Amino acid sequence: MRAVVVSDSKDKLVEVKEVELRALRQGEALVDVLYCGVCHTDLHVAKGDFGSVPGRILGHEGVGIVREIADDVTSLTVGDRVSIAWFFEGCGHCDYCLTGKETYCRQAKNAGFSVNGAMAEQCIVTADYAVKVPADLDLRQATSITCAGVTTYKAIKEADIHPGEWIVIYGVGGLGNLAIQYAKKVFNAKVIAVDINDDKLILAKESGADLIFNSKDQDPTEWIQHEVGGAHAAVVTAVSKVAFRQAVESVRPTAKVVNVGLPPETMELEIIKTVLDGIQVIGSLVGTRKDLEEAFQFGAEGKVVPVVQTRKLDEIDTIFTEMEEGEINGRMVLDMSL
Ligand SMILES: [Zn+2]
Ligand SMILES: [Zn+2]
Repeated sequence: MRAVVVSDSKDKLVEVKEVELRALRQGEALVDVLYCGVCHTDLHVAKGDFGSVPGRILGHEGVGIVREIADDVTSLTVGDRVSIAWFFEGCGHCDYCLTGKETYCRQAKNAGFSVNGAMAEQCIVTADYAVKVPADLDLRQATSITCAGVTTYKAIKEADIHPGEWIVIYGVGGLGNLAIQYAKKVFNAKVIAVDINDDKLILAKESGADLIFNSKDQDPTEWIQHEVGGAHAAVVTAVSKVAFRQAVESVRPTAKVVNVGLPPETMELEIIKTVLDGIQVIGSLVGTRKDLEEAFQFGAEGKVVPVVQTRKLDEIDTIFTEMEEGEINGRMVLDMSL
């Protein structure tokens, strides 16, 4: 079968080549992959930013149909629609796995990084960890919910926002746009979108943001405090240090600021503000199997609609180049049938 593999040559990041999959082991299922989204994380993995993994098949935004199951598998049947997500598998017995925090399992495996992923015609999954995709959900859109969707859904859950309250989303690109949709249409919050790009802000407005602010030349914090008395929560998907400071200054006392974006920098935090205003700054990483199941369901109900575009497996190099040049609007999804 054909797959996108991390290259061991210095001249290129990835290669599309023929790969033979090993035989199924107990507890596993073989999936015919139909679609796999392309994410910035894949670019990081290909570059070796998280550690070098030559030969690894990329992809953690996969969806497909179960073709075969090992004889002990009871959680899936042949023909099921399933997803292949970044959280590929946990150990199943540590404190984190047992208390609904499985994504923080110290033994967690990640698709397309520590195990082979879904940018391939087929993929082997651990059956109990492959979350089913509801029948009403478009499979191309499902790829985005597998990663950006569940990540933002989980972050808003962590933000503890209530109906009618204000949440500010910093960075309204691929992740942030879905954050707006979940905040508005699932959590029934009022949404402020902040970004430095007018096109993304226009899309944010169309996606349901109540207020938008371009922070390229102006600081949004005073404006937010003045307009709504400070937000009840903030989610930061921006890959920019300044947005994290602004998020803390945008909220009202006792709010939560949820960090999702990953700029490789240190965040400065005014200690007095955290104490006197009781502000909590927390991180949030992807989502559990249960979170993904819920995030999918809201997609199936049409409350959340990711913007996707299908491309061929062979176009992966071009897609990475476009990604680095910031030319991508919406998610690029590899269609294995093209
Ligand atoms: Zn992703
Ligand atoms: Zn564990």
